[in-house]
Amino acid sequence: MTIENTAELTGFAKLGISGQLLKATHGAGFTEPKPIQEQAIPAQLEGRDILGIAQTGSGKTAAFALPILSKIIALGTKRRPKTARALILAPTRELAVQIEDTIKLLAKGAHVSTALVLGGVSRFSQVKKIGPGVDVLVATPGRLTDLVREGDLNLADTKWLVLDEGDRMLDMGFINDVKRIAKATAPDRQTALFSATMPDEIADLAKGLLKNPVRVEVAPQSTAAAEIVQGVVFARTKQKRQVLSRMLADDTMRSVIVFARTKHGADRVVRDLERDGFNAAVIHGNKSQNARQKALNEFRAGSVRILVATDIAARGIDVPGISHVVNFDLPDEAESYVHRIGRTGRNGQDGVAVTLVDPSENAKLRQVERIIRTKLPVIADHLDSPDPQRDPREKNERTFEPANDRNDNRRPGGAKPNNGFGKKRFGGKPAGAKSFGDKPFAGKPNGERKPEGAKPFKGNNKRRFGGKRPAARAA
Ligand code: AMP
Repeated sequence: MTIENTAELTGFAKLGISGQLLKATHGAGFTEPKPIQEQAIPAQLEGRDILGIAQTGSGKTAAFALPILSKIIALGTKRRPKTARALILAPTRELAVQIEDTIKLLAKGAHVSTALVLGGVSRFSQVKKIGPGVDVLVATPGRLTDLVREGDLNLADTKWLVLDEGDRMLDMGFINDVKRIAKATAPDRQTALFSATMPDEIADLAKGLLKNPVRVEVAPQSTAAAEIVQGVVFARTKQKRQVLSRMLADDTMRSVIVFARTKHGADRVVRDLERDGFNAAVIHGNKSQNARQKALNEFRAGSVRILVATDIAARGIDVPGISHVVNFDLPDEAESYVHRIGRTGRNGQDGVAVTLVDPSENAKLRQVERIIRTKLPVIADHLDSPDPQRDPREKNERTFEPANDRNDNRRPGGAKPNNGFGKKRFGGKPAGAKSFGDKPFAGKPNGERKPEGAKPFKGNNKRRFGGKRPAARAA
């Protein structure tokens, strides 16, 4: 491409994407690059390593995938058996599936092979797929480590390495796996590391893995997206079920993710919702990959309105049009709050995030507020009222409305103010719901359970490429 005609190019072409890849990118509906793509694509095409501070939703998948695909296409087919030319590591299976889907879309019509390596599904078909060698392999660290250790995969030819959601890899105990995997790849590889936040361990990892990286950043560290209206509802743990069901009775909550801290907590929320007349899908780490994918597909297709999830299962999920995020409880790590609420308010659409807070969670709430540098407005306070069915707004007039509407709460005829959930919110029983009043809340409060992700991947921390020597090094 000459300098003269570059000036006439626009969009992705101007960033250096051409030919079939450009056609497929447009075909995927990507015509104007997002800021992270503008920053990261040219630098990677020049061969630079990238340190990207960005969340899912920023467009980072295309930002790392397009340069890699471009280079792979330019070099033509050159694969050895059991090798991968590019490796993309993601912390969760759902994110890995999503990344591979995007890559297939962007590479449509170009002769690029892709494969997925994840835990929880048949190993055999994965080994078969990588047998002849693949261009782009998307993987979660655990299963990938197994395949390398057992000689089914050789990373010596891997010249492009992407680590996605680095901070989540750290939270999930994958950091040592990641280091070992990186070590098994080609020493002259090009590397990109993306992370929504930059804790010290990730900064250290970046120092060890990246060579003179270009730093790209699309949102200030640990700040929530601006389009999301946030608020808290004070309710005791035993009141939360009732508060949640009353919120969900509002059908303007079109598409809702409810986050629970633990797997058992998530199961209990689903059980209670079902008892209260709602249909909800659930994803967490104890569900099989097929069950998780099915739940996600149903939610994405809109056939279920409510998805209950733990942090780990939900990380990185990009379902367009989620109208509300409800934090049934606060996450143990305050930074997870930012990721949770980032499931809504995507692609410039409005989103609402509501957090139910028991007094025992006050310290966590303060940590969250410190991180997002915002004091969350109180939408409702049930603490002095043992009965969440009593309208909390009689006592508390703070609402979700913009500040200039807040004095307008006393509407004609005693109508309730609109505080963000829509007209019916907190009003009436959900359709088909059973009475709340006569049944004690079953089970222990969630706070007594182990949070998902606390130590969920013990085995991986100890996993080594031991036993058989890694094929990469034997080669
Ligand atoms: P990601 O952060 O990679 O998960 O991308 C978030 C969402 O933005 C996905 O739904 C992508 O399909 C979409 N997206 C990414 N880049 C573009 C673009 N340049 N134009 C339109 N949509 C995009």
